[in-house]
Amino acid sequence: MSDTAPRLIRRATDLAGRLARAAQRLEAATRPQSRELEHHLAERWAELPERARHSAQTLGQRGTGCEATHGVFPSCDFACTPCYHGKDANRVRIDGEHTVREADRQMAFSRALRGSGQNAQLIGGEVSLLPPDDHAAALKAMQRHTFKVMSFSHGDFTYDYLRRLALRPDGRPRFRSLIFAGHFDSSMFGRQGIPIADNERQLNPFRARFVAKFRRLQAEHGVRFYLAHNMTVTPRNLDQIPDVLKACSRFGFRMFSFQPAAFQGDSARWKENYREITADDVWSRIERGVGNRVPYRLFQTGDERCNRAAYGGFVGDRWVPLLDDRDPRDLRVRDAFFRTLKGMDVQVGPALLAVRATRALARHPSAIPLLAHWLPRFVARAGLRNLLRERFYAVTLVMHRFMDQDDVSAAWELMERGETASDPKIKETQERLAACSYHFPHPDTGRLIPGCAQHAIYDPIESAALARELPREPRGDYASP
Ligand code: SF4
Repeated sequence: MSDTAPRLIRRATDLAGRLARAAQRLEAATRPQSRELEHHLAERWAELPERARHSAQTLGQRGTGCEATHGVFPSCDFACTPCYHGKDANRVRIDGEHTVREADRQMAFSRALRGSGQNAQLIGGEVSLLPPDDHAAALKAMQRHTFKVMSFSHGDFTYDYLRRLALRPDGRPRFRSLIFAGHFDSSMFGRQGIPIADNERQLNPFRARFVAKFRRLQAEHGVRFYLAHNMTVTPRNLDQIPDVLKACSRFGFRMFSFQPAAFQGDSARWKENYREITADDVWSRIERGVGNRVPYRLFQTGDERCNRAAYGGFVGDRWVPLLDDRDPRDLRVRDAFFRTLKGMDVQVGPALLAVRATRALARHPSAIPLLAHWLPRFVARAGLRNLLRERFYAVTLVMHRFMDQDDVSAAWELMERGETASDPKIKETQERLAACSYHFPHPDTGRLIPGCAQHAIYDPIESAALARELPREPRGDYASP
């Protein structure tokens, strides 16, 4: 009898401890953003140059940027003009073990510096040259470090390849969804069925077929998809942007990203004067293609001279922005969005999302009336009748403008010495590199390298070294005409 009371007390204490720990875990799991991410966001904000720290900036307010692999599979079977890879890239053989090991190592490093749940690109030469199992293993390795991973491809692979990537050998899906960027434009050479495209319109059936493979995969195996469409813009295809958008906006791409060509990579593949094109030239063609003004200053990732992005969707043939940058009430909605959601991951199951959103709104109740008043404004912009007739079809419009390698090399050399350029062009390049949103992890040196510097300086060195480490027999790749 005398033992009973202490035993009961011990059990009650144990139970209380277990309940308290479970409550802590539940609290952490449903917190809109983890303390760890909060820390990384604050760090990211602090490392931005002064001019990039403004109310529209997504870095440090919403995310920490995008990370990308390098030197994991440099070679490609296309011949693009321009090609951002050095001339040695195609002397490196595809080696799945190397790809998986390096992708894992690089993303482990990025995860430690950038926090959880961020975006990453499995990118290099052509990703579909990897055997499907190796491609899947690389994605899994990157996902283990909590990244949302997008595979970058020219899209010229078969349905069988996609199926084998998405499914285990026993036929069960190994991914719930796949994220791909398909690159299609007439500066690319070597596509099966159309090795040379004279214009963008000729590529539309190939764009449609790319999406159709993913639709089939979803219908047959339940693997969902998110697809982005990438297009390099040169003076030759600039005026074809509107037609691409008009023809392909409903194919199934959820993002159209336009990249004005830069003098990067293999100089033998530079064919035109890419500098004839300005950012506004590209953006005006995008606006023509979507039949509306496209506001890009509401959300800024990094430097405006590098990136423009606009969020909205098609209602019928017309793209409608979610927010209008000319309306101060919409700017307040944007500010409330950052304040309320912070880095909250919205790509989770509906129940968890509902709990996280409720907690976020409970902490920032002033966001509720702002949202309630925004909705009728959006409906008025889109047109109630149009919205009732047509389904809102979300599409993000993006431009990413790489810089020329000569400017980048000059700017980077000075930055490495801690010097600011006096030449305005090189100073601008330095400012853009300092605010870069797209980094390549270098675990060996403990650095994250901006994309432009990676392509201009590090890629050629890495490819030359890899060509010795993983030499490749000459293959019949397509040579640019
Ligand atoms: S990769 Fe180059 S163009 Fe892109 S954000 Fe970084 S510095 Fe700017």
